[in-house]
Amino acid sequence: MYGFESRVNIKSESEIAIMREAGRLNRQTLEAVKAAIAPGVTTGELNEVAESFQRQHGIYSPFKNYDPGNGVPFPGSICTSINEVLVHGIPGKRKLQEGDIISIDCGAVYEGFVGDAAFTIGVGEISHKAQHLIDVTAKALEIATAMMVPGNHSGDIGAAIEEYVESEGYFVTHTYTGHGVGRQMHEDPQLTNYGQQGTGFLLREGMTIAIEPMVLVGTRQTKVLGDRWTVVSKNGGLTAHQEDTIAVTKNGPLVLTAL
Ligand code: MG
Ligand code: MG
Repeated sequence: MYGFESRVNIKSESEIAIMREAGRLNRQTLEAVKAAIAPGVTTGELNEVAESFQRQHGIYSPFKNYDPGNGVPFPGSICTSINEVLVHGIPGKRKLQEGDIISIDCGAVYEGFVGDAAFTIGVGEISHKAQHLIDVTAKALEIATAMMVPGNHSGDIGAAIEEYVESEGYFVTHTYTGHGVGRQMHEDPQLTNYGQQGTGFLLREGMTIAIEPMVLVGTRQTKVLGDRWTVVSKNGGLTAHQEDTIAVTKNGPLVLTAL
């Protein structure tokens, strides 16, 4: 999702505890959607699963009606991005097919704080190549997460993500990034999926940041479709996306969007 507040908000321990709850509820929403993924199900139906879960738990998605200034407020509560769609797919009438891969990106607002997370999964049986792409994207997030400790630079993390992804033969987008998360879904700073060691911003205790590797096959180039949201790979190749919101703490990285 686009749009950034021009500030970095350091969170207190009590704010991080609230964000942990927001993240847990967000992950539970994602798990409910995951359980509904099957051939023949529409992306609109997946959106309804998320909305109904969130209604029952007194939370809501900050994606709904999110307006980045592109003239089209986002109509869904989740992003449903199939195959060549990297991010920001709009839920609707499209039916999932056996062999597709789909990324679900969702947010949850709880007591004024946001959790933001995404996963990619296969629909039914998928090819080994597609599964490998998903596995590499998940591993890139894992590598980055372990580096979210005070004293590291953002460039260290971006460099590690890109180096690993390219070592597996894929590309990361240089156009879309991770970001600070807090009372706003998008706060400073941005966390790119590429970088140079020792450059960028310094990680400090109390930062809460969404890391989101977005991985493509054969190109890093993307384009936005006419609906002004859907981001696809320019070559039509498969893509995957994985995201967690992480708190930088003195005890190490805390995954806020874990169950
Ligand atoms: Mg997200
Ligand atoms: Mg995000």
